[in-house]
Amino acid sequence: MIRFLFLCLVTTLSPAVGSTILHTVDPQLYRDEAVVLRAQKLGEADRIITMLSRCHGKVRAVARGVRRTTSKFGARLEPFSHVDLQFATGRTLDLITQAVTLHPYSEPLAHDYERYTTGQVMIETADRLVTEEGEPALQQFQLLVGGLQALTAGTSDGVRPATMVMDAYLLRAIALAGYAPTLGDCARCGAAGPHEAFSPQLGGMVCRRCRPPGSAHPAPETVTYLGALLAGDWASTREIAPPTLRQGSGLVAAFIGWHLDHGLRSLSHVDRPLIAE
Ligand SMILES: [Zn+2]
Repeated sequence: MIRFLFLCLVTTLSPAVGSTILHTVDPQLYRDEAVVLRAQKLGEADRIITMLSRCHGKVRAVARGVRRTTSKFGARLEPFSHVDLQFATGRTLDLITQAVTLHPYSEPLAHDYERYTTGQVMIETADRLVTEEGEPALQQFQLLVGGLQALTAGTSDGVRPATMVMDAYLLRAIALAGYAPTLGDCARCGAAGPHEAFSPQLGGMVCRRCRPPGSAHPAPETVTYLGALLAGDWASTREIAPPTLRQGSGLVAAFIGWHLDHGLRSLSHVDRPLIAE
């Protein structure tokens, strides 16, 4: 329950707390919890950790010495890990000075190829959707933690296939980003639904007048299923037939792919200083 009481306050702690790195400078220390999205090599033994945090949104910070086999927190900063962190402010990037594991999601995923690959899609999508560093993205953070929890330990209504958990996450994440698919009325002209055609570029289900050539024509139960995923209504997904799951997954992939490639890529072109690749 402690996690739910976590307050997003920047707190200056005593420089004596934490790490020996801090002796020669007088940095501000602060805490946050985060899911690790990726890790890049830096120099001989360090990494730059990119993460989605509860209070500070996307954060990139340096973890010193984590590639040494003696590193205590290197294993805690693998992608998928949900960790409680202490940071020290730095001149370019902040330093991670402590890491405590909250949920080691990387461990169950490492032993299940399908869940690992779907989890990878989820953290890459979070990385793409949250573009601005330091801008709080609490709902995206909560959705990602919930998605990883559902992927590794089951949903609130029991275990579901990995692709179903991933598709639910993707639909809800893109909806939070402002691109929710329209599943009832026509996405283009607003004509009352239900409609028969689905167009990723027009934003979802479209009427006969608006549908572009080559639009998909999903079964009505597939559209209902996508609505349940979007609403987080796991109970309604208990009896989903494999063809419905497959067709829904195809539509989600087309929808997310179109928006990430066409709608969101421009946002990721915002220049940000990089000290390592
Ligand atoms: Zn229309």
